[in-house]
Amino acid sequence: MGNKRIGLYPGTFDPITNGHLDIIKRSLQLVDRLVIGVATNPSKNPMFTLDERVAMVVSEVQEIAVVTKTQIDVVAFDELLMFFAKRVGANFIIRGLRAVADFEYEFQMTGMNYQIDPDIETVFLMADPKYQAIASRLVKEVAIYDGKISAFVPTAVDKAVREKVTLMNRKKS
Ligand code: ADP
Repeated sequence: MGNKRIGLYPGTFDPITNGHLDIIKRSLQLVDRLVIGVATNPSKNPMFTLDERVAMVVSEVQEIAVVTKTQIDVVAFDELLMFFAKRVGANFIIRGLRAVADFEYEFQMTGMNYQIDPDIETVFLMADPKYQAIASRLVKEVAIYDGKISAFVPTAVDKAVREKVTLMNRKKS
């Protein structure tokens, strides 16, 4: 039992989408334990606080963990990804690939990460085509302009985004 495969799926999750959830479900076929790392990422100017993002991920993965009988831990982090990976004992990092646009960035990041820690492998997964176009950034944009986002995010997240947008609008006026 000593050689548990521990995967780390890092991201900003601002907010968690159906695309993220699809990648999470797929990754569970590869790991014995999944750590979802929620990055502080202040430079990305998140819509949700770190605590809010963590809470949304926790509540969305609870049922998946039960159904798949896999341990899923949601952990916030604010350090170099490879240091965090080492600290949680991850054997590999899981990233989702959407379009060509993701590739360039992921290619550079993975190359640098291999130099920082050659023992930790990075694995890329693709979401089901119906979720591939979903991006947190676009979900927020659509919601800000009053568009429907229910096809892209879970119900509770949809509600949280709409509440956040209302709050932002109230502050503006
Ligand atoms: P980051 O700031 O690290 O890009 P995100 O929360 O935007 O954080 O994404 C986390 C990971 O999930 C990234 O690897 C991203 O490519 C992947 N991802 C996000 N949305 C999708 C999707 N619709 N399909 C596949 N992968 C996705």
